[in-house]
Amino acid sequence: MSTNAMSQFDQHQSIGVTRSRAVERLITGMATSDGAGVKLTRVLTQNLQRRLDPFLMLDAFRSDDPGDYIGGFPDHPHRGFETVTYMIAGRLRHRDSGGNEGLLENGGVQWMTAGRGVIHSELPEQEDGLMEGFQLWLNLPARDKMIPSWYRDIKSGEIPEARTAEGVVARVIAGETHGVQGAMQRDATAPLYLDLHLPAGARFTQPLASDLNAFVYVYRGALSIAGTEVPAQRMAILANDSTADGVVIAAGPEPTRALLIAGRPLNEPIAQYGPFVMNTQEEIYAAVSDFREGRLG
Ligand code: MN
Repeated sequence: MSTNAMSQFDQHQSIGVTRSRAVERLITGMATSDGAGVKLTRVLTQNLQRRLDPFLMLDAFRSDDPGDYIGGFPDHPHRGFETVTYMIAGRLRHRDSGGNEGLLENGGVQWMTAGRGVIHSELPEQEDGLMEGFQLWLNLPARDKMIPSWYRDIKSGEIPEARTAEGVVARVIAGETHGVQGAMQRDATAPLYLDLHLPAGARFTQPLASDLNAFVYVYRGALSIAGTEVPAQRMAILANDSTADGVVIAAGPEPTRALLIAGRPLNEPIAQYGPFVMNTQEEIYAAVSDFREGRLG
């Protein structure tokens, strides 16, 4: 990561967080399968959508058993939100109804705005080896749910990185940290999406406005936040405390990796039926009938 041309040293030793948010709740994901039998952990489940608005779902997958992933996600529709797929290891081929195609691999991100609709497939392009990554679903505001679909493949080398004095590398997928602008920005939801690589014992601070909903998912090692230990494969929901001005994360005795994700809530009704996320039941019926009658893609 240190060779990334966009890395920069943080000159500000303490980036103004005087009081860290606390951990409100630790979440253990739910083991499930989706697509054509892909085994994964659903970390952010439907019952947390209101609490973590504007985020709708976070799936984590990690396996070196091809039987767990080889089926991939054959053709399926989406409408009304964005999907952000981050590959840590492995290769995933994406094809959609608009004729777009891309290969997502090792450290790359695909940001897809489903908008009014897309039908796509996400299929592994390897027959063995480790497949590891995350898919986050980010809601769209009501006014944008029917915009044309759009996507961007972001190669690993195009993801800006911030490096702090303590040696923490923050890969900035969206938002901003330590003066480094991320690969993506979104006005309505102001998402922050950081992949943090912390040396053993290192600290990382991130200012956060108190109205943002925020969580941390640890995928290697362990860390602590305001005195609460967060082990690997756990999501810590950060309390929205008006007296806190950010979060201070401290890695445990091993090198640690974690996602720090935050966003501005939309505070709009959420109606979900599988891969369609709209505001009303009527809009869901319309999505289903558009899909059945071939008007979605
Ligand atoms: Mn999909």
